Amino acid sequence: MEEINQILKQNSFKFKHSFGQNFITDINLLNAIVKDANVLRTDNVLEIGTGAGTLTKQLSEATDKKVITVEIDKTLEPVLKQNLSECKNVEIKFGDILKFKPSELRQWFNNEPFKVVANLPYYISSPIIFYLLENNFNIQSLTIMLQYELATRLVAKPNSAQYGAVTVLLDLISNVKLIRKVPRTVFTPQPKVDSAVVRIDVDKNKWQVDDKCINFIKNSFVMKRKTLQNNLSKSYGVEKDKIVQVLALSEIEPLARAENLSTEQFVKLYNNFSKLLKIN
Ligand code: SAH
Repeated sequence: MEEINQILKQNSFKFKHSFGQNFITDINLLNAIVKDANVLRTDNVLEIGTGAGTLTKQLSEATDKKVITVEIDKTLEPVLKQNLSECKNVEIKFGDILKFKPSELRQWFNNEPFKVVANLPYYISSPIIFYLLENNFNIQSLTIMLQYELATRLVAKPNSAQYGAVTVLLDLISNVKLIRKVPRTVFTPQPKVDSAVVRIDVDKNKWQVDDKCINFIKNSFVMKRKTLQNNLSKSYGVEKDKIVQVLALSEIEPLARAENLSTEQFVKLYNNFSKLLKIN
């Protein structure tokens, strides 16, 4: 892995903080991530943020199918040509992941299912997660390195400070696990915070809800300190009395806040709410 630092030097590569470039060169960690993702020989893999291609290389060795990797920084091209020259199943796409049309991305794998494995750029981790989950891709799982703080929010339990709309929205369509905490010292250059590997196993049929439920959850959390009564009556223009009735019907305390509710309670509340109050 000393080799990669040399390749970066030879190409006079300059790390760009603005692109969230924190590379991994520790071979044990790279192998651990591939194992966490459970990449099988028959799996297509999408990586976001190729960097110097260290994780890409291990992914390429783990599968006989395609590894497609997206990188925004074109100055990495010569580095990647050198480092990935022997990886025949790897395709690099230069560009901003959020700017690729979902229809184009779907075609990369001929509509076949794929797994996402990535050490994500931290400044846009959340938008990338939502881009991947909201566009009906055929994704089996996402195994991603995130800031530790964001990771704890994704796996938070009700009644904790970390619990929020993001936690519930993810729990509606997947099972999320924090697999390992990773110290900042393994990255080059070192970020200011620790990281964690999280695995999101997609299960779209976990709860049978429609798209309006997503808005309902966002509206419930809109003012975190306020009660559900308050947030919902403001968002939907419904009198508090009526909301209290729906809360009672759903067996939820009248003064409950969004942060007190489990996903199951949210689904129950949403179903009663939409049935009785015909929300949009
Ligand atoms: N996978 C590599 C690099 C991780 S750093 C490793 O683990 O070593 C994150 C990478 O994402 C950087 O290379 C950065 O240039 C790239 N990146 C940042 N924003 C991006 C975007 N919007 N689309 C695609 N890649 C992006």
